[in-house]
Amino acid sequence: MNTVYVLSPDRTPLMPCSSVIARLLLKEGKAKVVRRTPFTIKLYALPEHTSTQPLTLGVDTGSTVIGSAVASDQGNILYLSEVEVRNDIATTMKERATHRRNRRNRKTRYRPARWLNRRNSIKTGRFSPTMRSKIDAHLREIRFAQSLLPITSIVLETGTFDPHALKNPEVLRKKWLYQKGINYSFANTKAYVLTRDSYTCQHCQGKSKDQRLEVHHIVFRSQHGSDEEANLLTLCKTCHDNLHAGTMTLKRTGKKKGNLLHATQMNSIRMQLLKRVEAEETWGFVTKEHRLLAGLPKEHIFDAAMIATRGNIPVFQTQLVLLKKGVSDGEYQQTRGVRSEQPIPTGKIQGFRKFDKVRYRGQEYFIKGRMSTGYAILMMIDGKKVDLKPIPKFENMKRVSARSSWITCQRIMPGSFSSPT
Ligand SMILES: [Zn+2]
Ligand SMILES: [Zn+2]
Repeated sequence: MNTVYVLSPDRTPLMPCSSVIARLLLKEGKAKVVRRTPFTIKLYALPEHTSTQPLTLGVDTGSTVIGSAVASDQGNILYLSEVEVRNDIATTMKERATHRRNRRNRKTRYRPARWLNRRNSIKTGRFSPTMRSKIDAHLREIRFAQSLLPITSIVLETGTFDPHALKNPEVLRKKWLYQKGINYSFANTKAYVLTRDSYTCQHCQGKSKDQRLEVHHIVFRSQHGSDEEANLLTLCKTCHDNLHAGTMTLKRTGKKKGNLLHATQMNSIRMQLLKRVEAEETWGFVTKEHRLLAGLPKEHIFDAAMIATRGNIPVFQTQLVLLKKGVSDGEYQQTRGVRSEQPIPTGKIQGFRKFDKVRYRGQEYFIKGRMSTGYAILMMIDGKKVDLKPIPKFENMKRVSARSSWITCQRIMPGSFSSPT
């Protein structure tokens, strides 16, 4: 069974309904379809009694992927999405600068040099275009979910560990008391130690190629070693097993400096989101413990589901995951050839543009490349080219939706965590 989103005549979101009821409403002429991905209908008249329940939007924030889920207080999951954030902005902007430089060198019109026209970099508190795009992607996804469902509260997972609780574990015990059997403060310290050690084995520095990381007690727990971060060290499973088997001794190597870009970006995304959205804050280590308790695999959408249910076991009322990917508005390169003799068509070719979603032989694809001879190269949402023989022609495909700055499709939830209906 799948959830259909329902809007009132003035487009305020109502509680969703099942596809069976939606079909009935459409058949009786009481509603019309306003969006296909995800399936959304709008009622022509407001029903006499509309009831709403408190709904929570959980967001697993990220600098590459954002996971979102909406849950009711009973843990019913009504919305799942995964947004791939753009990470190409810095490169494309550099590319644009190169193309411009190139163009200006070719054209001989004299332009006096201008220097004090960089308005943007003079501004204080300015965000780089990459950061702005990432923050906007989060805000946009939050607004999108709010336009589909009557969301009453928002929970954001903003980091892997809670820095305040490292010194004061009492905070955690008060806040997360209701999930029994989890040592939240140790989970928090573990998450901190992994971050501190840049997710790298502190013995082999990743040379063993073992991806499984564990946290080792320098003074063993059996010898009353403490659970504090100073006594903990990140080791890969290979090194950790060898160490405990006695075939290896720990050489205390100096700490390798990690790549701070990700952490720095995440921190300013976090600050900006909390400034602009009224939300509760949660941490990755809490989500992880809850997800393990629910027996769900490591996926952004399952993390989001655990955030939205605040640790209760989720019941998936929808099996569909909305996939979104940010794409650029256009290409910066305008011509091709040694003397720029070939202009690159930026407009439509036979009514089609790059990133348009099309239906071809019963399947949905996105346009990756176009040939003026009337052929198209198609791709899936991940950008992988689809090899089709014969090469698909524009005349045999139908446009499902025009390109926008987000391309969207749906997939079925991984695994079979189906819900009782
Ligand atoms: Zn190792
Ligand atoms: Zn150990």
